[in-house]
Amino acid sequence: MSIQSTQPNPAQTESSGSAFYAGRGVSKTPMINHAKGIFFWDTEGKRYLDGSSGAVAANIGHGNERVRDAMMEQASRFSYVVRTAFTSESTETLCKMVADLAGPGFDQTFLVSGGSEAIEATLKLARQYAVVSGQPKRSKILARMPGYHGSTMGAAAVTGDPDRDEMFGPMMRIMPKIPAPLSYRLPEGFDVNSYADYCANELERQILAEGEDTVLAFIMEPVGGVATGALVAPDHYYKTVREICDRYGVLLIFDEVMCGAGRTGTFLAAHHWPDALPDLVACAKGLSAGYTPLGAMIAPNRIVDKVVESGGFLHGHTYSGNPLSSAIGVAVLTELVNQDLMRNADRMGVLLRQRLTTLKERTSTIGDVRGMGLLNAVEIVRDKATKEIFPASSQASYRVSAIARDLGLHIYGRRAAGGSSVNGSWQLLRSSSPNKKLTSSWNCLQRRFAF
Ligand code: PLP
Repeated sequence: MSIQSTQPNPAQTESSGSAFYAGRGVSKTPMINHAKGIFFWDTEGKRYLDGSSGAVAANIGHGNERVRDAMMEQASRFSYVVRTAFTSESTETLCKMVADLAGPGFDQTFLVSGGSEAIEATLKLARQYAVVSGQPKRSKILARMPGYHGSTMGAAAVTGDPDRDEMFGPMMRIMPKIPAPLSYRLPEGFDVNSYADYCANELERQILAEGEDTVLAFIMEPVGGVATGALVAPDHYYKTVREICDRYGVLLIFDEVMCGAGRTGTFLAAHHWPDALPDLVACAKGLSAGYTPLGAMIAPNRIVDKVVESGGFLHGHTYSGNPLSSAIGVAVLTELVNQDLMRNADRMGVLLRQRLTTLKERTSTIGDVRGMGLLNAVEIVRDKATKEIFPASSQASYRVSAIARDLGLHIYGRRAAGGSSVNGSWQLLRSSSPNKKLTSSWNCLQRRFAF
């Protein structure tokens, strides 16, 4: 278990109290033995339905034999060369594949080992581009509250989470935040559309308040992940944000670490709003579907070329463009395309939200169901009429997740924007038939869910 939140996982608190990976202590976290498709099994033989694709990563399902074969083929030849001196066929192929799937305006791919690293790359490339373009005063990245962009310091600086700011703020420069256009709990006097307008216009207000020549970029998750619980804004929000960025020469960065790589029914979530495409994209998770640590920054020639011509990108990691990870990424994306999993995510997402909405009507604890494609969340509340949340001390989302896990369903409970959400993302697998299992699991869960 990694440290993810101020709300500890009950499984952790019951153990030694350490949230680190097991050292000399004995972890009570179930130990997984093997996995296939949408299921994994622990060493006691208990089967779990992977309802959230792990951390919304295992997009093509577990145990894919074509991915295994690609991994073995690459490993049997070579697994590593240093990217600054050499390249490999798998790395070149993956970079091209990602850029092709991302489409016009996205020409180059910078490969890293995960989401936080991909975010760091976007922040640094944006900064270097501004400097070489003669705008060295631009250094501020505006971001949204709430929002989540990762665990490294740069990513944490743009993450919208007051608890993390309090803990790590003294060690870094926390970047300015504007409100995310939440759709379920709205301030008085707003509906979803007017609040989205207000939030988009806050971007302009904040740019002017900071000094327009000091703002480098605006970063947002086009479809929210853990911080907002699969938040999708009304269409006009994206267009307005794009227009404001253009007006002030501010780069628009989409964090597609969770929502990218087919999860929402298109390769990039950005493809749902073609008139609001970002300048830079960070992608990870589904890119390798959990088969290896992998992330990517996707960028246009006009930005990369300028930075490269000026002497090169001042950024990189030992495992940037790793040949083995690249071979796995190529095999995963090939599966994504050949099995038509993006269209499947779209279709299954509609079905999943229909079933979750029916469930919402039948239960007292589901306040909201939202999402896009197969990135969805249910928000649990104490009182549906007032939208009253469970107190933080009740650890509601973690307890729901723990009960679900007992019942053999893995979901991804998190404390989201003023409430508790449970991400039920579901894998993109064609063969999965999650809905019956979902209903019966939630019914059991509901019976046992008492605070
Ligand atoms: N950005 C978003 C939207 C995420 O959901 C995550 C992880 O959940 C990250 C960034 C960080 O990615 P990683 O955990 O791979 O570093």
